[in-house]
Amino acid sequence: TGALTRRRAAVLGTALAPLTYSTPLHVASGRGATMTDTDGRTYVDAYNNVPVVGHAHPRVSEAIADQVRVLATNLRYLHPRAIELAERLVATVPAGLDTVLFLNSGSEAVDLAYRLAMADTGRRGALVTDFAYHGVTAAAAALSPEEWLDGSKPGYAERFDAPVGPDPDIASFRAALDRLAAAGQDPAMVVVDPLYTSDGIHTPGAAYHTALGDAARAAGALVVADEVQAGFGRAGDHLWSFTASGLDPDVITLGKPMGNGHPIAAVITRSAYVEALGREAEFFSTFAGSPVAAAAGLAVLDVIEDEGLVEHAAVMGARLVSRLREATAGCAAVREVRGRGLLVGVDLAGTDPAVVSRVQDRVRELGVLVGTTGARYDVLKIRPPLVISAGQIETVIDTVASALDQIAD
Ligand code: PMP
Repeated sequence: TGALTRRRAAVLGTALAPLTYSTPLHVASGRGATMTDTDGRTYVDAYNNVPVVGHAHPRVSEAIADQVRVLATNLRYLHPRAIELAERLVATVPAGLDTVLFLNSGSEAVDLAYRLAMADTGRRGALVTDFAYHGVTAAAAALSPEEWLDGSKPGYAERFDAPVGPDPDIASFRAALDRLAAAGQDPAMVVVDPLYTSDGIHTPGAAYHTALGDAARAAGALVVADEVQAGFGRAGDHLWSFTASGLDPDVITLGKPMGNGHPIAAVITRSAYVEALGREAEFFSTFAGSPVAAAAGLAVLDVIEDEGLVEHAAVMGARLVSRLREATAGCAAVREVRGRGLLVGVDLAGTDPAVVSRVQDRVRELGVLVGTTGARYDVLKIRPPLVISAGQIETVIDTVASALDQIAD
């Protein structure tokens, strides 16, 4: 690991390296809900939402291999697999969301959502939640308050509070609309991750999203559901987290889990917006919707369906929340355990981020990988592949509880 760390620093640099742990983790292989590092140590991966159907799922690997042996090209030449995947996706969303545009990453999907919203409305204003992250490209980073810490907030974007607590209202959203108006901007869109993953994981009642959607539409803005984190069954009640959240989107952005590790992303939206953008621009991204990516995407949908992973996520997630609440009941640092399906947060509100980071490191030393989230990075984020077993869920619970006992109290 030491040698790899040095070689990595030499050729990849350190300034932009994601420093998840205080010592780097270099992984060599994965299977199901586990990953093995380059020293041969195996962890339960409760961190990464990319391998949604499990690391190296044989059906996904074989679908990719079968396709790559026959044809690996791009959408300059229309390929039946992309059409098949688009048809499958359209069948899972509300009527009217009839068109799929393929991309390579969640950031590109958010970029395109913004371009569609601007083309449809003729406006530039955008509203995003408190500490949301919507991507790495210049346009998506500008829509990510997590990236505004250096004062780079653009004049056309405003943030509003994530919905915290049992009965949140939209006062903060209305205030953000007012600030946008004061800045001379009309809103083109509001973007919401329905489970507020980067904001610390919040699951407001449907009334909140109904009110938000009504207010957005009254202001002439499109509603974008960013399902890059929360989509593909993680919420445990539907393939899409917006469904049970009461959010009624005009545009849906998809990414991360879509190819279970193979790059593929998409926007699902109304054909009218696509036509509006088509009148003012050309749109083509070389690899987007490639036959190999589409084969991966189709296999992921097949596995979620055939293995009943949405239902499994609900059962495992409910167990995780209730048992974790019991196991951490005596831990003063834990303010709340919350979440939906297999996206669960352990809120250590007010705990020094350095201590939270030590808890995360200790959890890793004990053989489990978890993340952190929230504006103060004081929420432990538990987000395993949906195939995680009951036994592995118990391991996650025991490990997180004992790390908290050892460090946070
Ligand atoms: N939207 C959300 C909600 C995300 O969490 C992310 C990535 N963390 C993105 C967009 C950007 O996706 P990508 O990293 O694939 O570009």
